[in-house]
Amino acid sequence: MVQYFSTRGGADNQNFTDVLLQGLAPDGGLFIPKEWPALTPADLEQLKGKSYADVAYHVTSPFIGDCIAPDAFRQILSDIYTNQFEHAEVAPLVEIAPNKYVMELFHGPTLAFKDYALQLLGRLFDHVLEQRGERVTIVGATSGDTGSAAIEACRHCKNIDIFILHPEGRTSEVQRRQMTTIDAPNVFNIALDGTFDDCQNMVKAMFNDKDFRDDVTLSAVNSINWARIMAQIVYYVTASLSLSGASKKVSFAVPTGNFGNIYAAYSARQMGLPVHQLIIGSNRNDILTRFFETGTMSTGGVEPSLSPSMDIQISSNFERYLCGLLDHDTERLSSLMNEFKDKGSFTLSDAEMTKARTEFSAYRCNDEKTMQMMKNCYQDTGYILDPHTAVGMSAGLSAYAQAGADQSVPLISLACAHPAKFPDAVEKAIGVRPSLPEHLADLYERKEFVTPLENDLSIVQKFVREHRQQL
Ligand SMILES: *Cc1c(COP(=O)(O)O)cnc(C)c1O
Repeated sequence: MVQYFSTRGGADNQNFTDVLLQGLAPDGGLFIPKEWPALTPADLEQLKGKSYADVAYHVTSPFIGDCIAPDAFRQILSDIYTNQFEHAEVAPLVEIAPNKYVMELFHGPTLAFKDYALQLLGRLFDHVLEQRGERVTIVGATSGDTGSAAIEACRHCKNIDIFILHPEGRTSEVQRRQMTTIDAPNVFNIALDGTFDDCQNMVKAMFNDKDFRDDVTLSAVNSINWARIMAQIVYYVTASLSLSGASKKVSFAVPTGNFGNIYAAYSARQMGLPVHQLIIGSNRNDILTRFFETGTMSTGGVEPSLSPSMDIQISSNFERYLCGLLDHDTERLSSLMNEFKDKGSFTLSDAEMTKARTEFSAYRCNDEKTMQMMKNCYQDTGYILDPHTAVGMSAGLSAYAQAGADQSVPLISLACAHPAKFPDAVEKAIGVRPSLPEHLADLYERKEFVTPLENDLSIVQKFVREHRQQL
């Protein structure tokens, strides 16, 4: 059974439940497994043709160990992946050109890939809390998609209050409405006067305030919760299985912000999934691409782009990868993270960068290129990309255009959002306005529930204390 430790060395030998409920480690680090459970060629062979829920059970149960009874866990997985997703295959692959695939991750309730993990996270939380007779307060920051997916995941949970902070005026209207139109007594939307990073820092500050954290039993569902990464590993496995399984490598192109989704791909590879290249796509907010080019991680300002869910300048999950790259040297990692916090940058050695560059390649795609990608794809194939998907696909095609790239390896671009979530950008690029699926058709007529708050820790804490329900 997998045990977890904090990347900063302050917590060790934690089990799945500990990690699930804490979110962020008490020392400010992120939890990662001490060892990767194996996914052998025989396992993969055996999983071919199985349902998404069955594959999910096989892939994720080693991470959970005996923390959740197998029958209960199977039940949770089958409830989610057979009932909450609109497509029978859950995460279908569409071949848009020879050997070029799109993996559609927008068949969940909020039309973005975050549903795949957050639907599971909400139910796991509620299950564990119910067993323990406990209640938690979830706070999370979102630049758009995470918020609505987290709210959808928690709105029916009996033991959870959820507070989601979004940067006022900086999410798309669809994204905002998907969050704010939910009328539930345990759901609170806060429009913070600031950027997404301000929201994220506010959440971190709440976690770092021990009295507050204990007082409201704080927890997280943003992309730092290990269970989200775990759930996302599954679709990399199903994608590989549906093309080739153990016998052939595939490459993934992933539009990247907080590094959660691509870290799940990396995790799948660490477990044994045959992956050729992991290709990071960043938009103009290209901290990761600059890092892979220069060896220096250095923050800059956040600029709004056509792919707002990637408009961040700190990729919080990158710390997980870094810890692995440094062979779990938590001391060195902590000092790098402190340096990053104090000076806004850190630099790795040439040897470390050589290794990192064998594990990932990274490309940037500005708004102009994003528009061009949406347009070319639509003209050539008739397939409509959302802007995030376009960033990922553009990175994938750039990687395949490099000298020596092996064209026989299937390229799978992740479609992380439905195009109708970003109708203005899509319409501008291709001249066609994508329409929302039926279950969201009246979104623009629904009433909104949202509280605007100043970017001030004590004000936000007061709001949380006053609105959460006590046991
Ligand atoms: C969240 C999100 C991303 C970025 O994913 P990370 O896991 O943060 O790297 C990309 N595209 C869309 C549509 C998203 O919602």
